[in-house]
Amino acid sequence: MGLPTGPDTDTFPFVKAKWFTDIVNQKREVRVIVIHTMEAPEKDKTAENVANFFQGLPSTKKASAHLCIDNNSIIQCVLDNDVAFAAPGANHNGIHLELAGFAAQSSADWSDVYSKALLENAANAAAQYCLKYDLPRKHLSNDELEAGDEGIVGHVQVTEVFKKSTHTDPGKHFPWTTFIARVEHFYQKRKNDLGLP
Ligand SMILES: [Zn+2]
Repeated sequence: MGLPTGPDTDTFPFVKAKWFTDIVNQKREVRVIVIHTMEAPEKDKTAENVANFFQGLPSTKKASAHLCIDNNSIIQCVLDNDVAFAAPGANHNGIHLELAGFAAQSSADWSDVYSKALLENAANAAAQYCLKYDLPRKHLSNDELEAGDEGIVGHVQVTEVFKKSTHTDPGKHFPWTTFIARVEHFYQKRKNDLGLP
């Protein structure tokens, strides 16, 4: 597990982030998918706007993620095999997904029409990485993250376990149970569509 043994991921519009680390001549091992909120409003062009923001950052502010996701699109900013500057402690072996919206969202906010579309896009994107890197469709506990298990976590957990940042996204009302169920749904659908056992 961890090495890219499954099918390639989808091709999204690519807006290259200014900050990332190129893993030269090596296949990167990925063990966690990290969910973030952009701390940007739920708009139709938020993924595009944040991708442009990552591209235009000055040298004093290093930040990036693999995918920026909103209700109607996904923009890739860092290639799968490159390391994003997203959550210290889980950068070198993480895939980072930035979701439109705020960590402060309530449960009601996470179930509005916009969030439902966003979460479907994010779950499908996470599913392709579970397939590519042979990862369990599982929300890890902090103990499991610390122990080196494979799965899906929030940025806040990387903060709590590795203590190298202060970010608390995607927030305490992120709908983990339904999200993981949708990741599993899209994972099985992708396998079926590809005729994989
Ligand atoms: Zn974050």
